[in-house]
Amino acid sequence: MAAKLTAPTRIAGKRHADVFPHPFKVVAVRRMVPVRWFGQSWGASVCDPVDHVETPAGENCTRCGEQLQATDTGVILPYASDPPASMPYHRNCYLREIIGSVGHQNGNCSCRDGGGGDPPGMTLREAADAAVTLFYTKETPAL
Ligand SMILES: [Zn+2]
Ligand SMILES: [Zn+2]
Repeated sequence: MAAKLTAPTRIAGKRHADVFPHPFKVVAVRRMVPVRWFGQSWGASVCDPVDHVETPAGENCTRCGEQLQATDTGVILPYASDPPASMPYHRNCYLREIIGSVGHQNGNCSCRDGGGGDPPGMTLREAADAAVTLFYTKETPAL
């Protein structure tokens, strides 16, 4: 016989945070090693002025491998290693990792047994720029 499902038991005298503290630890870790950003703000919540840093000019973008220039805009993700490292990205290269390729947005990629992905003949950075442009100009993103 299956166990009977019951509502969570309230523990007398305890607050939710005392019983389930982990979400609060995650917030604490995030604030210890925040996502930082550089260049001009693009209005995203990540663009908190306290997390703005000098552009890591001369370092290579984690996605496209091209060298970051002093005029570039982007983010620096923390990387949990020993010693801690960081991963700089051009803004569009980072967004490309979230929104997917042009092919993905058009529903024609390996996710759906399609052959599309980044447009042929483009560098990784050009393909990231194309993906972001498409994302912001499509009226109805493919699901
Ligand atoms: Zn890049
Ligand atoms: Zn896909």
